Amino acid sequence: MTVTRFAPSPTGYLHVGNLRTALFNWIIARKSGGTFILRLDDTDPDRSKQEYVDAIREDLEWLGLTWDREERQSDRLDRYQGAAEKLREMGRFYEAWETPTELDLKRKKQLNMGRPPVYDRAALALSDSEKAALKAERGDGVWRFKLDLERIDWTDGILGDVSIDAASVSDPVLIRQDGQVLYTLASVVDDIEMGVTHVVRGSDHVTNTATQVQMIRALGGEVPEFAHHSLLTGPTGEALSKRLGTLALRDFRERGIEPMAVLSLMARLGSSDPVELRDSHAALIEGFDINRFGSAPTKFDVEDLVPMTARVVQGLDASDVGDALDVAGVPPALRASYWSAVKGNIATRAEAGSWWPVFANGAAPQVEDEDRAFVSEAFDMLGEPPYAPDTWSTWTSAVKEKTGRKGRGLFMPLRLAVTGQARGPEMADVMPLLQTKPSLG
Ligand code: GLU
Repeated sequence: MTVTRFAPSPTGYLHVGNLRTALFNWIIARKSGGTFILRLDDTDPDRSKQEYVDAIREDLEWLGLTWDREERQSDRLDRYQGAAEKLREMGRFYEAWETPTELDLKRKKQLNMGRPPVYDRAALALSDSEKAALKAERGDGVWRFKLDLERIDWTDGILGDVSIDAASVSDPVLIRQDGQVLYTLASVVDDIEMGVTHVVRGSDHVTNTATQVQMIRALGGEVPEFAHHSLLTGPTGEALSKRLGTLALRDFRERGIEPMAVLSLMARLGSSDPVELRDSHAALIEGFDINRFGSAPTKFDVEDLVPMTARVVQGLDASDVGDALDVAGVPPALRASYWSAVKGNIATRAEAGSWWPVFANGAAPQVEDEDRAFVSEAFDMLGEPPYAPDTWSTWTSAVKEKTGRKGRGLFMPLRLAVTGQARGPEMADVMPLLQTKPSLG
């Protein structure tokens, strides 16, 4: 059975880059009737916050990305210690005492000599008495996983065949000096024990994957299928990493962006399939194929979500925006005709009722000086509401005949005077909704 997981660290709000990871893993699980796990990578007690856990859940719920199981790494620390013990017994785990400054110096020397800055494994050469002396002097060291110096190969769902020389990678630190287990180990233990079959994550994790493949094998687990999606850039190709904080899903929500707009864009952006607005999660899942995504950086423009959101909103029924219509005070009997008149001119669900005050109380008319006499004359020819669906055509025909105006010169000043805006719903639909006779104020 397919098992995937989305494994955010609850150290901040989810952004559009996280969403890509969540969505791909969710789709893969749902497509095959598998299990989707929400795993909170909260081994860092200083940076992980309950507030972010709640926010992550809220964002996923908003998007309708339901999960079947929730796991927290902080509940599983004993499992990680057990795995560490196993690696120790196998001789694949060693303690090292270099300080960050010493490591930095080593790296600089290596770089100066044109060599890759890979940890030199000096700690492996220490004698027992040297280790005891370091321990007495510096306390506990960090624990590193001893890589087998061979090539690590896998066929990646997005990158294709990947081959990494373990000699070009430092033995990863899995336990910090203060005893805190790091994500690299915790994730491996979880993936094995939870039976994770597919891991999709950002391409910033490719080197992690190389080391984790060896760790999974050492611990006797089954290596999952990996796929690393490209990183997102801004519309002109600029790195997004620093701006991701401003692309939080909750900001999208506050702007009134629709979940289906976000999901439709992100489920295809960067793939060879066209981005099309889908109306359901089922439609998103259908036709999704991770192999169709490319490895090149993917351009993302948050503004693309604006017209897509408007299209979602235009597809809604009056009952879907009932709350907003209530707030605006649209009378129940007029809801259907109001909504069908205005929906093409509404950008977000929250704005659904925004035309009602114009119809209910009249707009502040916009009238150019040279049109004032014309508009006044036209208003004199208009009776009292309620107006009928043909009021606009009868009225404007009569005004045309009387004044000789036609086309834009006839219609635009009247639209501006009645609605206060140059653009908006069809005037034939507007007239029957007017609750007061338009006037020049
Ligand atoms: N907590 C890790 C992250 O957010 C998870 C990476 C993974 O999917 O293994 O980057």
